[in-house]
Amino acid sequence: MKFLRGTGTFRSINYSIITLLLTLTLVVMAQQPKPGGQATPEIEQLKKHLKYLASEKLEGRYPGSPGADKAAAYLAEQFNRYKLGCAEENLKCRHNGKDNSGYFKEFPFVAAVELAQNNSLIFKVSDTAGKIQLKTDWMPLGFSSNGNLASTQMVFTGFGITAADLQHDDYSKIDANGKIALAFASTPDGDNPHGKFGRYLDPRWKAAAAKDHGARALVLIAREENFTNDSLTKLSYDQTAGEAGLPVVVISRRMAARFLGLSDKAQLAQLEKARDQWGEAAENLKGSLSLSVDITRRTVPAYNVIGIIEGSDPKLKREYIVIGAHYDHLGRGNHSSRDPNSKEVHHGADDNASGTAGLLELARIFSVGRKELRRSILFIGFSAEESGLIGSHYYVNHPFIPLTDTLAMLNLDMIGRMRDDKLTVGGVGTAQILRKLVEEVNNASDSGSPLNLQLNEDGFGPSDHSSFYAKKIPVLFFFTGTHDDYHKPSDTADKINYEGQAKVVSLVSEIVRAFDQNDVRPTYTLARSESSGRSMSFRVSLGTVPNYADSNDGMLLDAVRDDSPAAKAGIKAGDKIVKLAGREIKNVYDYTYALGEMKPDQEVEVVVLRGNDRLQLKVTPQARK
Ligand SMILES: [Zn+2]
Repeated sequence: MKFLRGTGTFRSINYSIITLLLTLTLVVMAQQPKPGGQATPEIEQLKKHLKYLASEKLEGRYPGSPGADKAAAYLAEQFNRYKLGCAEENLKCRHNGKDNSGYFKEFPFVAAVELAQNNSLIFKVSDTAGKIQLKTDWMPLGFSSNGNLASTQMVFTGFGITAADLQHDDYSKIDANGKIALAFASTPDGDNPHGKFGRYLDPRWKAAAAKDHGARALVLIAREENFTNDSLTKLSYDQTAGEAGLPVVVISRRMAARFLGLSDKAQLAQLEKARDQWGEAAENLKGSLSLSVDITRRTVPAYNVIGIIEGSDPKLKREYIVIGAHYDHLGRGNHSSRDPNSKEVHHGADDNASGTAGLLELARIFSVGRKELRRSILFIGFSAEESGLIGSHYYVNHPFIPLTDTLAMLNLDMIGRMRDDKLTVGGVGTAQILRKLVEEVNNASDSGSPLNLQLNEDGFGPSDHSSFYAKKIPVLFFFTGTHDDYHKPSDTADKINYEGQAKVVSLVSEIVRAFDQNDVRPTYTLARSESSGRSMSFRVSLGTVPNYADSNDGMLLDAVRDDSPAAKAGIKAGDKIVKLAGREIKNVYDYTYALGEMKPDQEVEVVVLRGNDRLQLKVTPQARK
């Protein structure tokens, strides 16, 4: 599961539980054989898969790492054992040999950001110039653009925050145009991620603000006294939004004190708190910087693992039901860890060894009952979901089965923590028949006691089904809810509710059978979007669905909601927004930043790239409800 921190445009599930169905009848369902000899989920199988995937040995399954490769190999091995076809041409694949490579579909993944040759920072004040030591006193950030700036004036910008919704603008009285912006990496709330300025601990927002005010580079002042402890020095890369569009670096507090004409770090700490002294500090900042940033983003192969069961109906077998689960997780933690300083293995037992084990169990179940299937099933273990739905995004743009033949996508993400038989099923509004079908299957006697379902219309959400829904494929998303171990090393196998997990797998298998037996396939509809539980308090919305995995030189749109301001303006899915309300848009942060500065019912200009055309359109944002 992946929530893009702070943008608020990535809507999350509404966790309030609506009790739709309640029953006190206890039925031991998971282990009972179904009529007609159909296989059912086996708890021992689920346990075996999950324990292996969430073990120390797999080191948190970070894409491109040996641990993730082991997980991928394990999936392929099981697919082979169940005699699944593989994603080579004509479904030909060696089922019994040792070579499982046919199940792997490779895609590129940025595994690391590295320093290249030409990094330098020179501080010059009056006649004296000093070279600042890389790594000891300054570092580029992982999302920085490369660039060279000859001796350029600095400007002090406080926290470097522009936030109309919070009525805060550090740039209101200064001219940063053509200069290098110097800003504290902290916020008016200090380091508190839950304060109202919490999202500005993500330097992306400060980079967007600096760029918007014409700055040529952004220099952030480290939060940690000990420079190398600061998370900004780690060259980490969030994968989701491309590069910043200007050089962004962090400097030590020692060096910042020097820039600002202060005698030591204690004075700097005092200045950080005393905002009434910032005007004076800006006056005292007299030096200039020569800056050269040169970093390389190293790409490694990551793998989706794909297996196929072909249907038996000569005609219907052309239609595919996709069952997916991401098998990657956070490795030893990274920017999306909720325990960011931990170096421990993030086990990801619930997120998402649970869904992956479910996927494998479904592959086994349907391999046993393959003769009864009329349609075909594609089983996909996705990688790099946590990094921004990258694996599923890659798949839908390089599909193995034509998307028009893809009947629906069912996504299992975090199904291991069922409480009181509660299960969230998202996407029931993405095709007309889905709500009824899910309810009927759940109530049908042979699927055991009905689960307490929370049905949610929206097809977009923080996991891989979003990638499919954006391509107009009906989706269902199965999720047993969040918890305190989410994205922490403590998401471990001993906390899994295997009985509950088996119930989810059983329900999914029944839904797949219902799809298969239905003569008509579900037809895509654009679902109502659910209210967000964690949105940034935007005043306006345009009704666009940004593509998070692919934005570098504009904001590519995966979808545009019907009747939305964007639709009325003539903006279409597949358009790339490059300018909005006078602001250059390079990535999702620029876009979200621009949205934050817009006012309801005030028409603005938007420039989009569509194929080879550059279109100027007018859009009138509406007030967010
Ligand atoms: Zn996750």
